[in-house]
Amino acid sequence: MSYVVVHYNEIGLKGKNQPLFLRRLAVNLLRATAGTGVRRADERSGRLVLSLSRDADWPTIRERVRCIFGIANFSLAERTEPDLDALKAGVDRALEGRHFESFKVTTRRAYKPFPLKSEEINRDLGAAVQGRTGARVDLEHPEVTLHVEVLPREIYFSFGREAGPGGLPVGVSGSVVVLLSGGIDSPVAAHRLMKRGCRAVFVHFHSHPFQDGTSRQKAADLVQCLTRFQHLSRLYLVPFGEVQREIVSRAPGPLRVVLYRRFMVRIASEIARREGAKALVTGESLGQVASQTLDNLAVVEEAVGMPILRPLIGSDKEEIVQQARALRSYEISILPDQDCCSLFAPRHPATFSNLEEIGKAESNLQVNALVRMALDQIEIRGFEFPESAPSESSVVPAASTT
Ligand code: ATP
Ligand code: MG
Repeated sequence: MSYVVVHYNEIGLKGKNQPLFLRRLAVNLLRATAGTGVRRADERSGRLVLSLSRDADWPTIRERVRCIFGIANFSLAERTEPDLDALKAGVDRALEGRHFESFKVTTRRAYKPFPLKSEEINRDLGAAVQGRTGARVDLEHPEVTLHVEVLPREIYFSFGREAGPGGLPVGVSGSVVVLLSGGIDSPVAAHRLMKRGCRAVFVHFHSHPFQDGTSRQKAADLVQCLTRFQHLSRLYLVPFGEVQREIVSRAPGPLRVVLYRRFMVRIASEIARREGAKALVTGESLGQVASQTLDNLAVVEEAVGMPILRPLIGSDKEEIVQQARALRSYEISILPDQDCCSLFAPRHPATFSNLEEIGKAESNLQVNALVRMALDQIEIRGFEFPESAPSESSVVPAASTT
C-alpha cells in the first residue's frame, strides 16, 4: 500500500488553533481527492498521512493536492516497520525499475529515541542504494533525493517531493465576499484571500438584459476555475442594469463609475451579512484606471461599514497577469464580454471625486430602495469540485503519539 505524506506550514498552526487547522486541512484534502483512491487521512507526528488504495490515481491526486492551501510539501511514500533492515528491504524493493545517475538520502527523525541518528541512516542506507544501483552520491545536485521519515511506529520513505502551495487551509480564516468581474484582476484577488485561509463567496454584477449574458457566463467559468481551491462555491448574480439606469438619469456623468461602485459594495455587503462574511474583496490596483485613485477608493469605502480588502493594490498589471496565467483564469478572463461597467460609461470619469458631491448626487437617488430591488432579483448558483465529495465525517481524528 502507498501513502501520501503531507507536510504542512508551521505558520498559523501553533497553539490552541492547531487541532482546528489540522482537521480543516484533512477535510480539504479528502474533499479534493474524492474518487481518486484516497481512503483516509491520519495525523502522524506533525504530518498528515493519506492512505491510498491499490488502484489510487496518483497523477490526479498530485494535481489536486497541489491546490490545497496550508501544505508546504508532499510526497508519494512507502511505509516500513521502524527498523533499519525493514527500511533497507523496502527501499530495495522500491528501487526495482528505477534508474538514476546520482542520489542522496535525507533523513528526518520525528522520533528521537530511534537507535540510529539521521546521519547514520543516511550513510547506511546510502551505501545500500549505491551497492544496488551503482549510482553515485551527490549531496549538492542529486538527480534523486530519497527522503526518509522516522516516526515512532513506522518509517516512510519517498523518492522526491512535490512543492505545496503554502498558505493556510481554506476555511480557517472565515468567509469573504469577492466582487468578481469578468476581468483579469478579481480572480487573482480571490485566490490571494483563499490562500490566506478564507472561503470566498462570489458576487457578479451584470446588466442583462440591457446587454448580452457573456459576463455572467465568464463569471461562472471563473468561479468553476477557482473552486478547485475551495471545493464548494456560491456565485451571486446581481442584475445591475436598473440601478445603472437610475444613476445615469439622475447623476452627473463623470461620477457614474464611482456611484456604480458604491452601489456594488452596498449590495455586496448585504450579501456578506447574509453569508456571515466579514469583509469584501476587490481586484483594484492603485492608479490602474480612473476609478482606482486614492480619492475614489476612499469615497467607495465610505459607503459600507465593513473592510474592503484589496490584495492587489500594490501590484503591477504584469505581475497580476502572470498569476492569472498560473491560475489558469487568464484564458477565461480575456474572452470578450459585455461588462456592466461599459454600459453607459462616461467619456471622462472623475479621477478625484469627493464625498460632498457624491452625497449630493445620491440625494437624488432612492439608495435603499435600489439596493433592495437588486437584492430581490439575485440569482444564486452553486459550484462543486470535484463532483461527489465525501462528507466531513469520514475524516479520522488524530491518533498520533508525538
Ligand atoms: P478586473 O480585471 O478584476 O475586472 P479591472 O482592472 O477591470 O479589474 P475595474 O473594472 O475598475 O478594474 O474593477 C475594479 C474591481 O471592481 C474589480 O476588480 C472587481 O473586484 C470589482 N468589479 C468591477 N466590475 C464588477 C462586476 N461587474 N461585478 C463584480 N465586481 C466588479
Ligand atoms: Mg474590470
